[in-house]
Amino acid sequence: MALFRILSLAIIALATLASTAEAQPARDLFGAVHQPSSGAEMPVGSYAKGCIAGAVQLPTDGPGWQAMRLSRDRRWGSAELVGYIAALAQSATQDGWRGIMVGDMGQARGGPMASGHASHQIGLDVDVWLQPMPNHQLSADERENLSAQSVLKKGTREIDPKRFGEAERLLIYRAASLPGVARIFVAPGIKKALCAVTWRDRSFLNKVRPWYGHDDHFHVRLSCPAGATSCVDQDAIPAGDGCGAELDYWFTDEPYKPSTKPPAPPLTLADLPKACAAVLRAK
Ligand SMILES: [Zn+2]
Repeated sequence: MALFRILSLAIIALATLASTAEAQPARDLFGAVHQPSSGAEMPVGSYAKGCIAGAVQLPTDGPGWQAMRLSRDRRWGSAELVGYIAALAQSATQDGWRGIMVGDMGQARGGPMASGHASHQIGLDVDVWLQPMPNHQLSADERENLSAQSVLKKGTREIDPKRFGEAERLLIYRAASLPGVARIFVAPGIKKALCAVTWRDRSFLNKVRPWYGHDDHFHVRLSCPAGATSCVDQDAIPAGDGCGAELDYWFTDEPYKPSTKPPAPPLTLADLPKACAAVLRAK
């Protein structure tokens, strides 16, 4: 009888533990895990509501790149993303880039983050700084404290041509032209500057999307890798270069009006695909 009581109490305790985990903000749960799950790579869910099994870590330094903000432990992602970063770093050298500075990717098991991003959850997003890599190996301290410089003219939505010129345009051109890219998010002023240039082939502009922020870095989003059946791609981009009315909208006051909706509560495990609870707990 006593044993039965202990067992049933233990079951209740476990159930409560499980349900508190379900109700806890998922960012706390995913932010506390610093090792990927073992086994095959599997991005699960969508960019702003998902996780990744079997993530890999970007080395802090590679040929043509250095990773920033190492303390955040957000250098994890799909093998495709790590390969993409290496390829971009390589490709950028052709335009005289010494290297690129790599900002946040995702957490060891993806998922929501405590700060900074709504997306970056399934190992397919990376932020790349819009400034050349310094000519030395950065110290851990520099990687924490160097700040990314906005390429906009102070207090405007327009680029400063001294900070965003041909080298920066070509970097985004190359970033959008590599295989596997779904979208690149940039400040509206950056998109406008890209639209204003004569390109031999303008098709890359379709993937370059104006968005809030993104004036000191650009954000690359890869498509779901082939065979990643649990990964949910974003809706297709409307056809065209996006340089017309769609871009003009970003230069009106409309997108910057304060929202009247209350802020959404933080995502919990129950908001994520079911498989993410297993990814979180897996060895
Ligand atoms: Zn980003």
